Amino acid sequence: MTIPHLATRILATLGPASNSRDMIKTLALEGASAFRLNFSHGTQDMHKDTYNHIRDVAKELDRPITILADLQGPKLRISTIAEGIVLNIGDQFTFDDQDIIGDQHRVYLPHPEIFDAILPGHRMLVNDGNLQFTVTSVETGKIITTVDAGGAISDRKGVNVPDVPLKISPLTEKDLADLDFALDLGVDWVALSFVQHVTDVVEARAIVKDRAALMVKVEKPAALEELDDLIRACDGIMIARGDLGVELPPETVPGIQKEITYACRRIGKPVIVATQMLESMITHHTPTRAEASDVATAVSSGVDCVMLSAETAAGQYPAEAVAMMRRIIETTEARTGYASSIALKPVDAHNTYHAVASSATQLASGIGAVCIVGFSSTGTTGVRLSRERPDLPIYMITPSQQSRQRLGFTWGITSILSEHFDSFDDALQAISSLLLNNTDCQSGDTVVVVAGTPFGVAGSTNTIRVLTLK
Ligand code: PEP
Repeated sequence: MTIPHLATRILATLGPASNSRDMIKTLALEGASAFRLNFSHGTQDMHKDTYNHIRDVAKELDRPITILADLQGPKLRISTIAEGIVLNIGDQFTFDDQDIIGDQHRVYLPHPEIFDAILPGHRMLVNDGNLQFTVTSVETGKIITTVDAGGAISDRKGVNVPDVPLKISPLTEKDLADLDFALDLGVDWVALSFVQHVTDVVEARAIVKDRAALMVKVEKPAALEELDDLIRACDGIMIARGDLGVELPPETVPGIQKEITYACRRIGKPVIVATQMLESMITHHTPTRAEASDVATAVSSGVDCVMLSAETAAGQYPAEAVAMMRRIIETTEARTGYASSIALKPVDAHNTYHAVASSATQLASGIGAVCIVGFSSTGTTGVRLSRERPDLPIYMITPSQQSRQRLGFTWGITSILSEHFDSFDDALQAISSLLLNNTDCQSGDTVVVVAGTPFGVAGSTNTIRVLTLK
C-alpha cells in the first residue's frame, strides 16, 4: 500500500479501539496524518505508550506524524446519583452545593462558580443536552429548576450552562498536570478545551512557550465573541461541534462552522472540523449518506483537516472509518470545481507575508511552474503558502523535524527535511538535489521558491525566486 497524499488532512483520535502499534500503523497508512491523545479519557501511562507507538510508526514509515494532546479543560459534571433515576417534564429538580448522593429531587453539583453566576430563566443542560432544565430560583447553595426535557440521569454526566459566561480558567489542576506531562513527552500540539477569552490562550502560552503549538477548541458561545483575536492568538482552531452544538442550538452549528472556517482561512491559521463526522461508523461498516456529505462539505469549504473521534477511539471499524474519510476527501478534491470552491475570496493581503505568498502562487501558475517551494525553520512560510490554496504541490523544506511534525494539520503541505543552511544562497544551491531526490520534480522543471531573509529569522516571508532545476 502506498501512503496517500491528501491536501485535506485527517486527524484520528486514539483510544482503546486503536492505540496499539499495529492499528496506529494501519490508520497512518490509510491516510491519517495526525493523532489525538484525548486526556479526557485514559491514564498518563496509557498516553505515554500510545505516544511512543506513534513515534515508532513515524520512524518506520519515514514520515512526520503530528501528535495533539487534547486537554480535558473545565468540563462541568454532576456528582453521583442513585441508579435508575428518570426525570420527567415538569418535575422540580435541584442542583445542590452539598456533597450528597443524588436522588429523584436533587444532585450534588461540585462547581461553586455556577452557583455564583446563574440566575432564574437560565438554562441548564445535562448529558450532552439530552436533559434540559430552566432555573426557577436560586437560593443559598441551591439552584432550583424545572425539567423541560426529561430522561434517565446518571453519575458524573456533563453539565452545560450556555447562558452564563463562567469565571473559570481553561486550565484545571488536572490540565496543568497533563500539560506538563504531554510537553515532557514531546507532543507537537496542545488543544485547550472550553476557551472563552484571548486571556485564556495567553495564560496557556505562558506555560507552553514554544515547546508545542497551541490549538483552541471553539465550543463555548463566548469564544465566538472574540473569534478573530482568538485565531490570531493561537496556532490553529478546532471547531468542536460536540459541545458547541450543546451550548448553542444545533441548527446554528453549520453556519458557525462556515464563519469560523472563513475567519481562519482569511487570517491564515489551520482549521479542523471535529465531531460526529462519520458517527454511525462507530457501529457500522459504512457511513450514512448525510455523514459522507458532511465530510465532503467541509472539504469543499477548504478546511485544513477533518477529525474522527469515537469512530477511531472506541468504534468497531477504526481502519474503515479512516479509509472512508480518505476516499471522501480524494473524491471531493478530484472533482472539477474543487479549486474554485476553496478559492479564498476576498483575498486579504494586508501583510507583506500574505502578499508575498499570494504573489508567488499567482507567479507559479502564470509561468507554468511545477510546484511552489518554501524554506522555513518554523514552518510559518509553509502555512502562509497553504493559505493561498494553490493548485500546485507545496514543498516545505526545513531543517527542523519539530516543524515538520507541526504541519500535520495544514492543508496541502509536503515537508522535506534538510540540513541547516546559513543563507538563502546556500539553500538555493541545494534545492535541485532536494527536490529531485524527494519529489516527482525533474531536471529542467521550473519552480517558484519563497523564503524569509535574513535567513533563520522566524516569520519573515519576504522573498520570491524563480529557478530551473538542474
Ligand atoms: C467536541 O466537543 O466536539 C470535541 C471535539 O471535544 P471532546 O471530544 O473533547 O469532547
